[in-house]
Amino acid sequence: KSKVTVKELAEIMDKNVSEIITKLIGLGIMATINQELDYDTAQIIASEFGVEVEPLEDVTMDDVIDDIEIEPDRPEDLKPRSPVVTVMGHVDHGKTSLLDAIRKTKVTSREAGGITQHIGASEVKVNDKKIVLLDTPGHEAFTSMRARGAKVTDIAILVVAADDGVMPQTIEAINHAKAAEVPIIIAINKMDKPSANPDRVKQELADHGILIEEWGGDVISVPVSALNGENIDTLLEMILLVAEMEEFKANPNRKAIGTVIEAQLDVGKGSVATILIQNGTLKIGDSVVIGTTHGRIRAMMNDKGKRVNVAGPSTAVEITGLSEVPEAGDQLFAVEDDKIARAIVEKRINKIKAEQLKASQKISLDALFSQM
Ligand code: GDP
Ligand code: MG
Repeated sequence: KSKVTVKELAEIMDKNVSEIITKLIGLGIMATINQELDYDTAQIIASEFGVEVEPLEDVTMDDVIDDIEIEPDRPEDLKPRSPVVTVMGHVDHGKTSLLDAIRKTKVTSREAGGITQHIGASEVKVNDKKIVLLDTPGHEAFTSMRARGAKVTDIAILVVAADDGVMPQTIEAINHAKAAEVPIIIAINKMDKPSANPDRVKQELADHGILIEEWGGDVISVPVSALNGENIDTLLEMILLVAEMEEFKANPNRKAIGTVIEAQLDVGKGSVATILIQNGTLKIGDSVVIGTTHGRIRAMMNDKGKRVNVAGPSTAVEITGLSEVPEAGDQLFAVEDDKIARAIVEKRINKIKAEQLKASQKISLDALFSQM
């Protein structure tokens, strides 16, 4: 946990530094003005002054999202859509290498060597079926995006290095995927290494509640090498198999709903955001609301860097035409027209301001700590 200095604490509580130091001495702590205090100590001091310490609850988009009427789709309007996949796993187990290997097996020789990453997601075709790969590190996609109420992943590929086995971030990844109820496919990577020990990996996975098919469970595992491309095709086929079992569906004939994968300010283009379209179809000229940002879609670019006019479910596109840079995890909604988009954003901003005002009337150590 982060720390706060005596001086900062005095400022936020509107007290003299000497008063704080006196209280600290009372607690048996000899402190100087720049001394860092941990959260618990700061909280004790605050309560000594009778200051109510209450966690500042972030106003999440969930609170304001109810301003948009989302009509449920009729079952007959739903069409199969492609799976969206993230790669998770312990550091250095080969997440980036695996994504690269997948892309490499799927580019034509003409493109090979010149694979440019255009947006934060890419699509590969396997047996005429599409798979969407998110570049967002799996953990981020699960934590920050889920914290914002967004679910972007259909299937999690859990990479475990065969020479290293289950490690802390492997376990974290398992927990994230389980909590999100997202199916996992295990990629036992680095099989080319002489020290590879896939059986140990399977045993360790079983110890953590992941029972692979071979062991009587229902989790698919594929031994791969991101380095030499071994079994990458099999892994892709397994993704399609799981997708088929899960029967992912969406309604392409409605206004778009999506999630911001990444966003930034571009010198030439202004605010740009990569959106994963999850339902409906986004078109040039559509009015959209994203968090507290609105806009009209001026241009869209797909993962190959090509301009497109429409983007249906399970497509990632970079869009321009936004009033501001939205945040990753924010949800996009296409709405009737600009006027409505502006009105919704105004309402959201007012709501957030009101909440902030309410919160600022209480001194919140939690807020201070979370900023640091
Ligand atoms: P990340 O941290 O999970 O994204 O892991 P990276 O993809 O950056 O890989 C970490 C290291 O492992 C790099 O030096 C890779 O070259 C190496 N590596 C990744 N996959 C393989 C593999 O299949 N075989 C071998 N021998 N090395 C690999
Ligand atoms: Mg990496």
